[in-house]
Parts: sequence; C-alpha cells; structure tokens
Amino acid sequence: AKEEGKNKYQLFTPAMNAKVVHRLSLENSLRKALERDEFLVYYQPKVATGTGRIVGMEALVRWQSSDGRLISPLDFIPLAEETGLIIPLGEQVLRKACRDTKQWLAKNKDLVVSVNLSPRQFMQENLLQTIMDILQESGLPPAQLELEVTEGAVMFNEQAALATLHELKEAGIRLALDDFGTGYSSLHFLRKLPLNTLKIDRAFIMELPTDPNSAAIATIIISLAQALHLEVVAEGVENIAQLEFLRRLDCTEIQGYLFSPPVPGPAFAELLNANQLL
Ligand code: C2E
Ligand code: CA
Ligand code: CA
Ligand code: CA
Repeated sequence: AKEEGKNKYQLFTPAMNAKVVHRLSLENSLRKALERDEFLVYYQPKVATGTGRIVGMEALVRWQSSDGRLISPLDFIPLAEETGLIIPLGEQVLRKACRDTKQWLAKNKDLVVSVNLSPRQFMQENLLQTIMDILQESGLPPAQLELEVTEGAVMFNEQAALATLHELKEAGIRLALDDFGTGYSSLHFLRKLPLNTLKIDRAFIMELPTDPNSAAIATIIISLAQALHLEVVAEGVENIAQLEFLRRLDCTEIQGYLFSPPVPGPAFAELLNANQLL
C-alpha cells in the first residue's frame, strides 16, 4: 500500500506538471492559429515513372506561427488529433487543396491532389457531406481528389470506416492506402478497402537498392499492387539509384526529394509549368 501511495504521488511530479502546462498552451495556440488562418498547404509532386511528368501532388500542412517560424506537422498533428482540432484543421487543408487544384486544372486536366485523412476525421458522422460540400464549393471534380488513409484510421472503427470509404468511392473520390507495410494487418485491409492506390512507406525505399531485404519487400509490394490492379506510389525517393530500381519494377509513381520537397502553392505552380522533370 505504501508503494502504491508513492507511485500515485509521482503522477504529479513538477516535470509532468510542466508537460501538462506545455500541452495546454500548445492546444491554445492551435486554436488561435485556426482562427488566424496560420496553416499553409504545401505541395509535393508525384511523378509518373514512365513519362517523368507530374501527375499529382500530396497536400502537406505547415503551421506558420505568428513569429514567422514554420512548424512541422509532426509537431502538432498528434495533439490536433487528440484534441479533435484535426477536424476543423483537416477541413481547412482540404478546402485550400481543392481550391488550388481547381486553378491548376485549367492547364493540367488530369492532375490529382492527395489529401491526408486522419483517424479522428473518420469519427465525424458528416465526413462524406463535408467533403462533398467542399468539392462542390471549389468546383473540383471528385475524380481529381484522392484521400490518403492509414490502416490505423480504418482499424479504429472498422465497420463505420469501411462504410464511409465505400461511400466516398461511390462518389468518385480516389482512395490511397498510406504508409503501406508499417501497419498491423495490411493484407486484411487490402482485401477490404475500395482502393485505387498503394503508397509504399519511405522505410522500405530508404535503403534501396543495396539492402537485399528492402529490395525484396519493395519488389513484393509492387507486384502485389499490380496483381490487385492498383497504382503504386513510392514515397521518400531521394536518389537516382532508388529511381532506377523502382522504374525497372514498373512502380507507377514516385514522390520524394529527388524531384522536389513539399513547396508552397506558387512554387508548385512553377513546377507544373516546367512539367518535365525526369
Ligand atoms: P506522410 O503522409 O507519410 O507524408 C510524407 C512525409 O514524407 C512528408 O513529411 C514529406 O515531406 C516527407 N518526405 C517526402 N519525400 C521525402 C524524402 O525524399 N525524404 C524524406 N526524408 N522525407 C520525405 P511532412 O510534410 O513533415 O509530414 C509528416 C506527416 O504529417 C505526414 O506523413 C502525415 O502523416 C502528417 N500530415 C501532414 N500534413 C497533414 C494533413 O494535412 N493532415 C493530416 N491528417 N496529416 C498530415
Ligand atoms: Ca495517380
Ligand atoms: Ca500521406
Ligand atoms: Ca509515410
């Protein structure tokens, strides 16, 4: 009993108190940032391996705080997720991404924008309606939008998530399974989800082509995607050796620093104008 008491007391160490305070102040800052419209959407091109042309891009959020610093999503998405702020934040990102893409469509009619959908957004009952409203308002055709989901997002409430994903698919929106290979039951979801695209996680691309295990896994994932008639995107491609390896395997699309890091909208528009990267 004495030991227990001691442990309980330790729940309230000054260090932990400081953590709670930090968390609360970050949560407050996030709320303010939403009101002040401090979130920017950057775009990273996806390039068709066959033609070397930009065929789409992933929308990636950044937070430009009032002091001008650019904050990585890794530093605020987890808390936004925990607090539910990801719901209004996700809507802002989707709205901006759809508006920007609608503009760029004039000269690039097949462009597809990919937007990340987080686990918490699936708990929203009106997710489908929200997305359809944003598409309508921006004038972006549903087929030019792809949603990137992770296995974690689906697992949380599998039945509800599957129903929503089927509705999105029926509305003409594309679906990609993100971070493939890093989750728990990849093959289960491959069988269940109405997917268009598989994204190979950067972890399996990093050590290509020299690491034999990475090479074997990447090869298998790509042929699995082909057998299932899915597009397959390799993320985190940083060098020519990786590109050549993936090209030989007919990986459909490549995304990574080799072509471009995520860039602000106007810079992405310039990449589109020069659209012949490979
Ligand atoms: P993700 O969905 O796996 O996105 C890919 C991440 O890999 C991005 O990091 C991108 O900048 C980075 N990346 C791309 N190519 C390379 C490369 O060649 N080398 C390396 N080292 N990294 C590369 P970023 O932008 O920092 O985003 C991190 C994560 O934050 C994303 O991982 C995603 O899970 C989350 N995230 C970003 N934006 C959003 C959003 O709007 N909504 C939600 N729910 N999550 C988001
Ligand atoms: Ca595509
Ligand atoms: Ca993603
Ligand atoms: Ca990833």
